[in-house]
Amino acid sequence: MTRVSHAYFNNNKRDPVCALDVDTEYHKYKDKTDRFGCMFCGVKVQFTRGKEHNDPHFKNWPLIRHKSSCDIPNIERQKENYDNDGEIELLVSTILPRAKRLEKTKKAINVNRSNKAKIYGGRRSKKFIYNIVNLLCKQNLYQLKPEYEDLELLIEDGSRIKLKELLGTQDEIIKRINESEEKRVTCILRGNTRKAQMVKNNIKIPLTIGNNPSYKNTQNFSLFIRWDYVDKNKEFIESIENSLILCYGEALTNEFGTEMEIFSVRHQVVVLKKYKNIL
Ligand SMILES: [Zn+2]
Repeated sequence: MTRVSHAYFNNNKRDPVCALDVDTEYHKYKDKTDRFGCMFCGVKVQFTRGKEHNDPHFKNWPLIRHKSSCDIPNIERQKENYDNDGEIELLVSTILPRAKRLEKTKKAINVNRSNKAKIYGGRRSKKFIYNIVNLLCKQNLYQLKPEYEDLELLIEDGSRIKLKELLGTQDEIIKRINESEEKRVTCILRGNTRKAQMVKNNIKIPLTIGNNPSYKNTQNFSLFIRWDYVDKNKEFIESIENSLILCYGEALTNEFGTEMEIFSVRHQVVVLKKYKNIL
């Protein structure tokens, strides 16, 4: 069943509320929990804090279905086309965050960052990315198997993205960043990591670059762990060096180059292959 990160509150269609914020400021909502509506069709949805109270989201209100025109059941219906229901079900019920909305909130930057850390560095990211790994072809450079290329996922703003447009190498993702309005994209990066470097108190893990344009890795790209998340992650850094990895997050270009911020190595990065020789 689809879990959604945002919902309308009190029928306010301009400014959907984020489940993470409802959780933080629960006192404001606790007597009005029947006033959340689906962002796509408006039917009543239910706020829940999730298992162990660390995964706030909105889900179906008991016995109330989404309208037949709603994007949620339409996207979910794709699972009927595939045999391996479990994986596809989780993927089609994942609604991808859109950076722009998170940027637009009027909160201080550190709150936004902590929300982003929860979205990308949370347990659901890990499930999402491990499911993607199962759709890759190991014999063919870990590319997406052709039958999954056109599987569509829903984005919070109601737009859709095909799996093949979500996954990419560094050159492909840089191209998408340049073409995007916000100069940042939510994506799954596939690339080869080098040894980590300390840059002031931050950790930077550059990807290898090559000269052959057909490998689509000719431009600089790094994974970046900002100083405030270094302590939580430092024991896992070695495990992702010199490896072919898949990494889920938000990529952007700034004055230091193009990078993807990692809040949690364990939840955002999967190692597909570890190299013995240093790259
Ligand atoms: Zn709906």
